[in-house]
Amino acid sequence: MENCLFCKIVNGVIPSSKIYEDDEFLVFHDIQPAAPVHAVMIPKKHIASMNEAQGDDFVLIGKLHQVAQTTAEQLGIAETGYRLINNCGPDGGQTVFHLHFHLLGGAKLGALTG
Ligand code: C5P
Repeated sequence: MENCLFCKIVNGVIPSSKIYEDDEFLVFHDIQPAAPVHAVMIPKKHIASMNEAQGDDFVLIGKLHQVAQTTAEQLGIAETGYRLINNCGPDGGQTVFHLHFHLLGGAKLGALTG
């Protein structure tokens, strides 16, 4: 997608601090970390949000959870725990409309609030 910020990161047009990459996924450090460890995990395929996911996209989303598990291990937060978040749509707090999950950890995180 031409005007998608995360597609530009996938294509190397916008730089990112990469943690993990394979044919299907990219994981990078969030530029505005909300926790001591804050990674953004995306499928390279452009899916605007969880609402737009369909068919085989759910296979990708399942695999992304496996990448989250290995990334948590790599970042040293597997034992202490972490939070995996998807913001969907404006009310969900989504600002970049390319499906992504936030992997947060490295501290005792506060309770979820609305
Ligand atoms: O869930 P939401 O859409 O709000 O998350 C987008 C995230 O992408 C933000 O946490 C923002 O800091 C991050 N971001 C980034 N690198 C960019 C642009 C945004 O890590 N170049």
